[in-house]
Formats: sequence, structure tokens, C-alpha cells
Amino acid sequence: MTTDQKTDIPFSPPLVGEEEIDEVIKTLRSDWITTGPKVTQFEENFKTFIGAPAALAVSSGTDAMLVGLAALGLGRDDEVITTSMTFCSTAHVIEHLGARPVFVDVVPDTLNINPELVEKAVRPRTRAIMPVHLYGHPCEMDPIMEIARQHNLLVIEDAAHALPASYKGRMIGTIGTCTAFSFYATKNLTTAEGGMLTGDADLIDRARLWSLHGMNRDAYKRYSADGSWFYEVVLPGYKCNMTDIQASLGLHQLRKLEAYQRRRREVVRAYYDAFGDIPELELPVTRPEVESAWHLYVLRLNLNRLTIDRARFIEELKARRIGTSVHFIPLHLQPYYRDKYGYQPEDFPISYDNYKRIVSVPLHPRLSDEDVSRIIKAVKEVVAIFRRRNSPGADLQG
Ligand SMILES: *Cc1c(COP(=O)(O)O)cnc(C)c1O
Repeated sequence: MTTDQKTDIPFSPPLVGEEEIDEVIKTLRSDWITTGPKVTQFEENFKTFIGAPAALAVSSGTDAMLVGLAALGLGRDDEVITTSMTFCSTAHVIEHLGARPVFVDVVPDTLNINPELVEKAVRPRTRAIMPVHLYGHPCEMDPIMEIARQHNLLVIEDAAHALPASYKGRMIGTIGTCTAFSFYATKNLTTAEGGMLTGDADLIDRARLWSLHGMNRDAYKRYSADGSWFYEVVLPGYKCNMTDIQASLGLHQLRKLEAYQRRRREVVRAYYDAFGDIPELELPVTRPEVESAWHLYVLRLNLNRLTIDRARFIEELKARRIGTSVHFIPLHLQPYYRDKYGYQPEDFPISYDNYKRIVSVPLHPRLSDEDVSRIIKAVKEVVAIFRRRNSPGADLQG
């Protein structure tokens, strides 16, 4: 192999342009570096882009979920139904409020939460459902909203992967009670760290209080002539406001998002074309009623057709200088959740079985055509070397 001279193809590097850098510098030279005019502008532009009534910028996607749940009054002994096939912070925010995350299994094609299992998991203490639009593919929102309506439940969407995405023509960010987006470095839009909560104006106002110490500055308009110093503390709020430095990145990233998405879709098309006839690989499924954000391209290895496991597959791609990742290690396998709630791996068999086969390959707008070709070649090479020769159908492949 001559791979040694080749440069690395990282899994998901950020794409930050000169416009973002200039804007950050301008902000740093101004008199306002924390939450100010640029955050307000970013919130305005974001809510317009999504078509949501209101938006609140915060310091992470995790905090967007946290203040959303807090503003909805979630608390001790409440139960929130979500999935194990997600990043840990989806469940952590529920724990932070003293509530209980109740995991249910996913559907086999998209690995999104299974609405039938959500319905079965509803108990007297259930207050909310937290669907996660895994990999950018929207969940089955019609049945989820119907279950919520019937049982009077709130719906807080984890849309960390789902910017921009739509379900039956409706943008993610306009369907549930509120929706949390992440602008972490690897996400489709980045502010280094950051997040946004969308929802109706009243809810977003309450979440805003929770995001900044519970300090209500509206009071100064009522009580103070010059309005410069008076405030009231009405809640024991958190501290997770976004800064104007982060919003400087976000304003330009949002303008570029459609171009980024175009490139993501080109790469996705190249992967489908290249991998479509390889029986050792199962490719992502896109249901006809959705527009995916294509945050991740997740291959599922047909392990019975290969002589290696997923870990070795990742090692082989690494040897070819290609970065990969696993999204996610299901939460019910993680010591904290496993031990606290006594979960067994097989409690969520679809999550568990798929966990052993998933590998995310690079998908981001910085990939050149040459990068994409190298990734495709490397994946095909690894499959060809480690193909199980006696598996049915294996001889059909060149
Ligand atoms: C990234 C991510 C989060 C957390 O977002 P942060 O901005 O890093 O806090 C939550 N859920 C999912 C599914 C994620 O991928």
C-alpha cells in the first residue's frame, strides 16, 4: 500500500471562512462581546430561516434542551420518554432536573424512536417525549404528536443533527412544543459551541429567563426611569447565554448553510452510487416524506458477510488515514444509566444489535472530490479484503 504519503481525511473538521473570522474580530474590537446585538440578529435570522415563532440562542445544544425542559416545568419524578440511541446529554438534561429518562427502542430502518413503543411506555408520571432526529433524518412526528395530544404530553425535539430538515414539508423546529439545535464544532452549522431553542414566544421568553440567572430585566421598564440598573430575580436560573463572539460565527454560517447542504448531498449521492451494490454494507434509509439534514452518513456492516468486526473495520480505515466515528454507544449500555436503572443490553435489541454494526464515514462540506474517491476506494478495499468468501451471494461481487 502507498497510503503512507497520503494526508489524513479527518472525520468532521469545522468549516469556518474569512467572513466569520472578520466578524469575530470586529466583535472583539467593539464594546460588546457577550450577549448583545449580534445574538439578537442571529436569533432573528435563525427563527426566520426555520419559520419558528421565536428562538433563543444559548451556549450549547445541551443547554437548549435543559432550558426548554426547565421552562416547561419538568421536574422531580416526572418521566420523559426518549431513546437510548443518542448522545448522552439528551438523557443527562432530564436527570439534571430530577426527572427520569425512560428509554424505548428504535425502528430498524432509520434508528429513530419507535412511536408504538412510546405509546406503550406512557405511564401516569409521563410528562414529555424527547424524539431525537438521528443522523439528520426526522422522526415520525405525526404519530408522536398524536400520542402527545392524546396523553397531554410535551414534545421536546433533539434536533442537534437536524438542521435543516423537514417532515412532510414542515421544517424541524416548527413541529414539537420546542426544538433544540446544536452548533457544536462538528455540526452542520457551528459557532464552536452553541445552541438554539425554537418554540412559541411565551415559552422562549421563559426559557430566556432560565438561561440567564432568572433575571428579569423587563422590570426596569416598569420601575426605573433610566432603566440602567434595576432587575428582579424570579427563578434560580442557569447561566448559558450565547456570546456575540459566537453569534458572529453563526450569522455567516447560517448564510452559507444552503451551500454546505448542497455539498453534503453531492457527497451522499456519491456514496450511494459507490456502495449501492455491496452486500456487505447496508446504506442509510431515507423515507419519502422527509428531507434529511444529512448530518451523518452511517454505514451498517453486514457482519455475517465479513470476517472482521466493526472495531477492526474502523482500524482498517484509520490505517488508510480516514477518520470515522460511532453514533452512538447506546445509553443503556453506559455505566451510569445501566446501573441506575438496571438495564440489560438486550432490553433494546434493535439499538443494541445495530450499535455493533454502525460506522459513520466522513460527511462534511470540506470534502473534495478526491477525498470522496479516496474514502470510497478505501471502504471498497477493506470490504474486498475481509469479505467472507463462503457467504451466500458473496461470489456475485467483483
Ligand atoms: C451534539 C449533540 C448534542 C449536544 O449538543 P452540544 O451542543 O454539544 O451540547 C445533543 N444531542 C445529540 C444527538 C448530539 O449529537
